[in-house]
Amino acid sequence: MPKTSYVGRHRPAARPSRGRQIVVPVALLSSTVAAGLVIHDAGASESSPEAAAMKNVSDPVAGGISGDPDLAAAASASRAGGRSSRDLAGDARTVIVGATQTATQTATEAQAVADKAAAAKAAAAQAQREQALAAAHRWVSPVSGYSLTSGFGFRWGKMHPAQDLACPVGSPVHALSSGTVVFAGWSTEGYGNFVKIRYWDGTVSWMAHNSRLLVSVGDEVTPGQVVAYSGDTGHSTGPHVHLEIHPEGGTAVPPVPWLAAHGVDL
Ligand SMILES: [Zn+2]
Repeated sequence: MPKTSYVGRHRPAARPSRGRQIVVPVALLSSTVAAGLVIHDAGASESSPEAAAMKNVSDPVAGGISGDPDLAAAASASRAGGRSSRDLAGDARTVIVGATQTATQTATEAQAVADKAAAAKAAAAQAQREQALAAAHRWVSPVSGYSLTSGFGFRWGKMHPAQDLACPVGSPVHALSSGTVVFAGWSTEGYGNFVKIRYWDGTVSWMAHNSRLLVSVGDEVTPGQVVAYSGDTGHSTGPHVHLEIHPEGGTAVPPVPWLAAHGVDL
């Protein structure tokens, strides 16, 4: 019997495969057509078999589903597992939120980099200030190329509140640290050409018997600045620098240990 002569009442096995039946609704449900399909199917389920049959004729796709229980079940199942427009909107929102978060994160990271750079700059500036301050606050020896002679204490029955540093006349005499000249001139009390400097911490140094003064009252001086040349002026027994240290401008203290405590070994 030839294959093309089939005349039975049953429909030939030309129905789409089950896989295809599922794919079609899924594809449709993935678009806005899905909403229309859902409504259409809901209407079809409430209508009479005749109305459903009419729909089969007028709407081959939807009618095919509503008219065939297996297809309807498959469509329903695929809707349950499919993506509704609400899902898609949710996805879009997720993408937007994600993009916003990424942008925010990028801005935050950029800000963090900027903050870090600013902090590094501030730290460098702070380090520079501290370095400058340390330089300004350092202490130095009043003269180089000296020998210690008379020290702090009683000498010939009289208090000598100083350390004498013997050195050739004309040796540069240095400010011990940063400070202000509070006296520069001839002493009427035997100190000869005399200079007093009040330093940043309040300490006052007296340096006497100089041959020449290079500063005036009110001058700001820096550590090591040459303020005078040593000499043998006033009541002096030989060329030397007579050095007194008066903490807070008060009573004189032994210069050697005081300078040692400030990093200067005489
Ligand atoms: Zn002296």
